Amino acid sequence: MEKKLLLGDEAIALGAIHAGLSGVYAYPGTPSTEITEFIQTNPLAKERGIHSHWSTNEKTAMEAALGMSYAGKRALVCMKHVGMNVCADAFINSAITGVNGGLIVLAADDPSMHSSQNEQDSRHYAIAAKVPMLEPSDSAEAYAFAKSAFELSEKYDTPVLLRMCTRIAHSQCVVDVGEREEAPLKDYVKQPSKYIMMPGYAKQRHPVVEERTEKLRALAEDCMYNRIEMAENREIGIITSGCGYLYVKEVFGDSVSVLKIGMPNPLPEKMIRDFAAKVKKLYVIEELDPVIENHVKALGIEVVGKELFSAIGEFSQKTIRDAFLREGVKIEGVPEAQGAAPAVPGRPPMMCSGCPHRGMYYTLVKNKITVIGDIGCYTLGAVAPLNALDSTLCMGASVSGIHGFNAARGAETEKRTVAVIGDSTFMHSGMTGLVNIAYNATNSTVIILDNSITGMTGHQQNPTTGYNIKGDPAAKVDLEALCRALGINRVRVVDPYDLKACEEAVLEELAAEEPSVIISRRPCVLLKYVKPKTPLRVDPDKCRGCRKCMKMGCPSISFKEGKARIDRTLCIGCGVCEQLCAFGAIGGKAE
Ligand code: SF4
Ligand code: SF4
Repeated sequence: MEKKLLLGDEAIALGAIHAGLSGVYAYPGTPSTEITEFIQTNPLAKERGIHSHWSTNEKTAMEAALGMSYAGKRALVCMKHVGMNVCADAFINSAITGVNGGLIVLAADDPSMHSSQNEQDSRHYAIAAKVPMLEPSDSAEAYAFAKSAFELSEKYDTPVLLRMCTRIAHSQCVVDVGEREEAPLKDYVKQPSKYIMMPGYAKQRHPVVEERTEKLRALAEDCMYNRIEMAENREIGIITSGCGYLYVKEVFGDSVSVLKIGMPNPLPEKMIRDFAAKVKKLYVIEELDPVIENHVKALGIEVVGKELFSAIGEFSQKTIRDAFLREGVKIEGVPEAQGAAPAVPGRPPMMCSGCPHRGMYYTLVKNKITVIGDIGCYTLGAVAPLNALDSTLCMGASVSGIHGFNAARGAETEKRTVAVIGDSTFMHSGMTGLVNIAYNATNSTVIILDNSITGMTGHQQNPTTGYNIKGDPAAKVDLEALCRALGINRVRVVDPYDLKACEEAVLEELAAEEPSVIISRRPCVLLKYVKPKTPLRVDPDKCRGCRKCMKMGCPSISFKEGKARIDRTLCIGCGVCEQLCAFGAIGGKAE
């Protein structure tokens, strides 16, 4: 055994590698992205030829992993929680076919929505699909659970859902790690009744799924994932899971009795009943929805849960402590966390200096265009001062959504509404929406904000960049040709640093009497190969203090003593502000 300091995500990755993983498939999504990146760069994974691929979306990732599993090898598919919605069709049906090689489906939830549009609770998917779910409380468990999940998957012929949350995925602890054990390639046997999900066969599989659930229920009562920690004081008993367990231990130490759930589905009913019988008052502490709480109540057991601990956002040591103090519970022996974080000025997210999306957004705002947005770094166009977006729902919804929006209001909106979507998101789930526009012929205008990378999650390659996850040259999707092939005749490319060209393109395409696509193309300024130009400066003698340059929200520009100024340490010399100043005050080199 060797000791390593690992993030939860890294521990999952290493546990999977050591358990004989053959392939990982994913679409980047915070807080799960690091798992695939760790496997991609891990020397052992390279040596053993473990496949690591960015997939076009979570459904293709799930299906690729399932294909590897059917073929007899161990596979891992990773996504953030909302990715579960995208892969749900494949995921739920995979629970019926079962697996061959072990299959782990990793869903990373994001309570408090640090980088997500909702805080849905992935445990519901395990219940809906009737598959076992494991939930580690720290990196050490993440490593152990990932290793054992493959055995569980193969023994019970089921995908295993492994649930992480941001706090576990992105915090470190010391992990005792072992060595890789090879998982032999399993035989592939043609089994139509198992793998072909048409009604005649699916009907035969449903009883198999129910039987499996019964076996998993029995396992839940006696397994490494769930455990009871009894204290001398039996006044309070707490059932908890995930990071809730850590907060309980931080608040109470070993002074209260705890049933720690590491397998939230199926739950250990006998264990819960036995535990409840041993304590005077029972609490359930779980982030997000009352999944365990409802189950305990369904067993006829009285329990305090969401009336004390919110279903909204992350917990902390403080939220747990305060809730118990409100209940009049004495907390002894463990001091309150000291040293509250110092107050710091708010720093809302914003697009970077020289961000290529800014010029196009400025053009749309200037022309009072309704903008149906999508998911990616360009969603930041929604914040002040641009306030460019009207809606953002989920991956791909801009392109599909504008079709219905324009269908509802016809010419009134067709001439002043666009959908915006990034290059990676367009590959993920924008293409089908564009086919829908072409096929069903609404006069809609779609702008693909092509910054040549998957930006928000930290610069992952995608099928439009021409490189794969290793950085090796790969097939490159030609966006112009693709949009034409999908049925759009009017396709044009503009440079978003050229405001005049942007305005021309937007006004012409909105005026056209047929669907159109504008590709607003300029690589992300943070890409290594993008070299910043000389920073610009404001000539204070020419500046009239009109603030027009402030309207596009470049963080390099500030205003002091009635004049604009440019921070030369931030400015990358994109020249967009220069085009805005009517007094020729911006230009040249910084001082
Ligand atoms: S747009 Fe020109 S004149 Fe107006 S504040 Fe900016 S630099 Fe000064
Ligand atoms: S040139 Fe102007 S818009 Fe571009 S990064 Fe510099 S200050 Fe910002």
